[in-house]
Amino acid sequence: MGWSERQVAMLDEMGIRVWSPPEVAPPAEPAPSAPSARVVAADVPAPAAMREAPVVLLRPEPGSRPLHLDTMGWPELREAVSGCTACKLCTGRKQTVFGVGNERAHWMIVGEAPGEQEDLKGEPFVGKSGQLLDNMLRAVGLTRGEAPADQQVYIANTVKCRPPGNRNPEPAELAQCEPFLIRQIALVQPRMILAMGRFAVQSLLRSTEPIGRLRGRVHQYQGVPLVVTYHPAYLLRNPEDKSRSWDDLCLAKEALQPR
Ligand code: URA
Repeated sequence: MGWSERQVAMLDEMGIRVWSPPEVAPPAEPAPSAPSARVVAADVPAPAAMREAPVVLLRPEPGSRPLHLDTMGWPELREAVSGCTACKLCTGRKQTVFGVGNERAHWMIVGEAPGEQEDLKGEPFVGKSGQLLDNMLRAVGLTRGEAPADQQVYIANTVKCRPPGNRNPEPAELAQCEPFLIRQIALVQPRMILAMGRFAVQSLLRSTEPIGRLRGRVHQYQGVPLVVTYHPAYLLRNPEDKSRSWDDLCLAKEALQPR
């Protein structure tokens, strides 16, 4: 994939230097076309919550009607998330962090859980890792800001409330929150899901394999191509892996599902 001057500048911001091949005379024979994205159709079992329709919140308020997430539109889903008390994370949050971006985006980015900044602002990825994420997205022509659906992403987390002290979300918390993410994906109907970090991967691919073993190929989530990559917070601590995450973005761009 070639890139523009602007993308090179963005990559530079990500700490990735672009290597340009030296000028060479054109080959006498036409060069073979570039290989297309490798697609590995991992037969991933549907997450439990999708297999059992209708999806019901595990702990609805006493006396209230069960919430059937699988028929909810955006306003009802947003309301269900903001009022959720299904796990103990609700006691420490300032607010829930629902998601941001184009509700029919071609790309959906799935992160982990809100941190302090996100809890304060109510928007995913607004801290340091968010800045890196924005730069990475910009490098492939994407943004969270207003733009048509092919350029504006939708960003959501696996868990909608901040775990105290930014600890890892616990399995029960992930399980309680998962139906919300599943419904968000069903509403967005993305053509590409970028799963960032191990909790997104655990929820969507049901895999506990390390990111390093899952990245570099195209998985499938309910018929949608899914690319696994490093979480931006990990990249801030391990900048030597930024070039791998750039490869993952390029792979995702190549494998974007036509509609
Ligand atoms: N990390 C995440 O995974 N999500 C956020 O919203 C912020 C940091």
